[in-house]
Amino acid sequence: MKVLLDEKQLADGVRRMAADMSAHYGDEPVTIIGALHGCIVLLADLIRQLKMPLRVGLARANSYRGATRSPGAVTIDLDMLPDIRGRHVLLLDDIFDTGHTMVELLNQIGDLGPSSVRSAVLLRKQGRQQVDIRPDFFAFDIPDAFVVGYGLDFNNLYRNLPYIAVLEPHETAEVSSA
Ligand code: 5GP
Ligand code: MG
Repeated sequence: MKVLLDEKQLADGVRRMAADMSAHYGDEPVTIIGALHGCIVLLADLIRQLKMPLRVGLARANSYRGATRSPGAVTIDLDMLPDIRGRHVLLLDDIFDTGHTMVELLNQIGDLGPSSVRSAVLLRKQGRQQVDIRPDFFAFDIPDAFVVGYGLDFNNLYRNLPYIAVLEPHETAEVSSA
């Protein structure tokens, strides 16, 4: 695999994003909702940079990319969500690719009566978006390649890498045919 963003670059990106969020919200209370499982490392690093009164919740989003489902079909599980009625919600995902996951999360969370909803991702993949919205906060634009590490997985592996790397074609082929 090839390292795309190393630990220092990631730490700087998270700090920049936290500064943008702090400038936007000031001292307003915020509820940050992380999309599992990809958000876990980012969420842990980001919330420690935020100083406003902060509540933390989790949601689960699964996008099906297999041949049997239409591309972009997303299922969302909001069972773990705290009460967000009247709260400023900041939705956090690892990566904005086609954008369908973020749109579906924004729709479903919007239905629960928050006073505002904004979105944030660590990575935006260039040239892939199929939706009209863009995340309100992001740290990096990356090329159209499959990346792992810093919470992002391939077959639930590699989430623990402290950097973001691009998998070579033989690395994805090996595991999926194993
Ligand atoms: P979207 O709905 O925007 O197409 O996809 C978003 C979700 O797809 C992300 O939350 C992530 O789980 C997954 N995803 C998209 N691109 C990548 C990638 O390059 N690497 C990994 N590990 N997951 C990705
Ligand atoms: Mg995801």
